[in-house]
Amino acid sequence: MPEDEEPRNGVSENARKNKPAPRLKRRRYAPIKIANQIPMRRRKEIEKALGEVGGSPTKWSRNSGTKNHSFMRKRIKPGTIRHLEYDLLDVEIGESWPVPISIIHGSRPGPVVTLLGAIHGDELVGPLALTYLCGPNFMGPDRVFDANSLAGTIRIVPIVNLPGYRRMIRDFPDNRDLNRAFPGNPDSNTTSRVANRLWKNIISTSDYIVDLHTAGKGRTNIPQIRANLAHASTNRIARSFGIETILDSEGPKGSLRRVANEHDIACITYEGGGPDEADPESVQIAMYGTINLLRSLRMLPGYPSKPRFRILASGSVWIRSDQGGLLDVLAPAGSFVEEGEIVATITDPEIPGVHHDVVSPIRGLLISSATHPFVNSGSPIGHLLPVKRGVSTLKRRLDEEGCLIISGSDGEPPWRDDEEIEDIAVFGEWSGGSPDAEWGPNHSNEEEDDS
Ligand SMILES: [Zn+2]
Repeated sequence: MPEDEEPRNGVSENARKNKPAPRLKRRRYAPIKIANQIPMRRRKEIEKALGEVGGSPTKWSRNSGTKNHSFMRKRIKPGTIRHLEYDLLDVEIGESWPVPISIIHGSRPGPVVTLLGAIHGDELVGPLALTYLCGPNFMGPDRVFDANSLAGTIRIVPIVNLPGYRRMIRDFPDNRDLNRAFPGNPDSNTTSRVANRLWKNIISTSDYIVDLHTAGKGRTNIPQIRANLAHASTNRIARSFGIETILDSEGPKGSLRRVANEHDIACITYEGGGPDEADPESVQIAMYGTINLLRSLRMLPGYPSKPRFRILASGSVWIRSDQGGLLDVLAPAGSFVEEGEIVATITDPEIPGVHHDVVSPIRGLLISSATHPFVNSGSPIGHLLPVKRGVSTLKRRLDEEGCLIISGSDGEPPWRDDEEIEDIAVFGEWSGGSPDAEWGPNHSNEEEDDS
């Protein structure tokens, strides 16, 4: 039997179709605080989808299938962790692009959850979060990911687009976007072949998928979930991530989450921070949310954390520049801004002394802002969720600068233990005479030490 037709780990037919086991009572979700960000028509669609599927996790059974988890002809026994390599391309000679995959197969039955990072090669928050989760602080006996206490299977691919990652670019080497190529085609272009192989071997054999991203070039996003809330099991994991901002949309054509949902596989996208950076808060919240999600699926022991409120948004406003020049952002991503509030100023080095203010057209939460100072008329400089109700609830979670404190961001980063940190002296001399002497062709030995 080809891998893609293998029974999913004994997942019952009911579970696969996302129906509750008969003896489980249907349970509705707890009321939500700020549901009115979603229009009535969409709310009805979502309520209908949730009514068809119970709110409780399904009872999983392995009676019908093998107890081993099978991946690419390798068998992973219950209660074990394996670190394998997966070839993105099926070739006998030339580049096969092997990527690391870690599989934790629990000793108890449960769903298959796949965690993916860097489908875009320059988005590093996912790879960092997943690498930490695969490290010794989180994986192994008596850790969060302990195969002996785990129910179900977790598959982790920290860097999907490894060729793009090595080149520090978003796309694959054939300049195509993997996240617009699903489900792919085995006879088409390189990216489409990769998409199709991932689809067959990893995506279609998953019950739940978490796809970790950042904003695109020149922007940064506050940690947020993007999900089709009218897909019931996707709705459930979107909420279970435990953060405040959820954008309700189907996703672009060919995107992993849209195509997964079309095949009734739950899939959410997390976005936090920007490309080419390792925003620690976004990394921490990605880890926090992933663990929350696995706890609410009852795969990991412990209770999931829940946010004080959720903004379920079905629309947004882009704030654009009406002038060209250099941008100075006054209200960064995460700021709650009032109508008419100045969010940025623009100056032109060619006309010193003149500046233009950019004001917010409406009251709301800035979920994204520009990071590149160069703007033209029409450049997007902020992405705003209009917030009409629940303002006082939201304002209680603002810090001194008026930025939203996102659940999971407070406290020590979970992967760093202060007692383990040691001060280490390094002796030697600076190459070229100063720390930055070798940086770039125009830098001489006379450069300042700090730049
Ligand atoms: Zn991305």
